[in-house]
Amino acid sequence: MRWFDAHNHLQDPRLGADPLGGVSAASRAGVVAMVVNGTCEGDWPAVRRLAALCPSVVPAFGLHPWRVSGRSGRWREALTACLDQTPGAVLGEVGLDRWILDQPRDRCLELGTGPDGPASLEVQRAVLDEQLDLAAERGLPVTVHCLKAWGALLECLRSRPRLPRGFLLHSFGGPAELVGECVGLGAWFSISGHSLHPRKASQAAVLRAIPRDRLLIETDAPDQLPPPEWVSHPATDAQGHPVNHPANLGRIAEGVAGLLGMPIEELAARCEANWVRFFGAAPPEEPVNRAPSGSAAVAAAVRAIDPAGSCSDHRSRPGPAPDGSR
Ligand SMILES: [Zn+2]
Repeated sequence: MRWFDAHNHLQDPRLGADPLGGVSAASRAGVVAMVVNGTCEGDWPAVRRLAALCPSVVPAFGLHPWRVSGRSGRWREALTACLDQTPGAVLGEVGLDRWILDQPRDRCLELGTGPDGPASLEVQRAVLDEQLDLAAERGLPVTVHCLKAWGALLECLRSRPRLPRGFLLHSFGGPAELVGECVGLGAWFSISGHSLHPRKASQAAVLRAIPRDRLLIETDAPDQLPPPEWVSHPATDAQGHPVNHPANLGRIAEGVAGLLGMPIEELAARCEANWVRFFGAAPPEEPVNRAPSGSAAVAAAVRAIDPAGSCSDHRSRPGPAPDGSR
């Protein structure tokens, strides 16, 4: 079967210095394409380089709500340049997060906010609106992070013209009663391995409410590590902490198919068709890297350069948010 990872962060240093090796491992596990989401100005260059080297990578650029307070004065110009100069680029990861506002300062810094802590919800909303404007102007699909901010997100989406390509609610964990209205606003939904944790069992009914023609799956690697029985590709960061890997997608799909009560073959076929409809990218026949994996030169080429000193390197140790997402 062919699998499509609707959301990951392959550029994250926690996945090691050889992201092309990660692409190859995922490819051997049946993952033929993946959307690699940038989160801030500091990691956008690494996403660009990965996309240039790997035909199976769909590059996504966006300012994540946790990164909003660390943005520079020229973030919008930098984002516009990434979107306009990177073939096949889409917008993400963007969104709203109220959960981060209640976290202790040390925890916020671990998770990669700027030194002043997270931006207020009002500032997050203003930055989200600017990014949605870019998506609307360019006709791009958008990937959205929403954590404990559903009211604010719906208010935002209701207040503006419908996005021409719609939006993907990644690692969807919202209440069932939101599904219908979100669909009407143009939502697609991707399910991660986080839904496979036993404490999330009650969420299965929510997932079954998602229209099958709006359904995608994702790893969110290196985050959202599923329970051990749904991990086919164990991986750790440099400190030895377990992390999720894009090659786990097929195993995660088995668990998700069980939650949905859907044959695995049907899930694979629907996710492929939905991927093409949402991201508009034809899956590569032979996802071959354009450079050999494992070489020091390639690793050096892909590793993030962090001019602001406020981004990816701060993300090497933190545990996940309560829903495991970022
Ligand atoms: Zn993410």
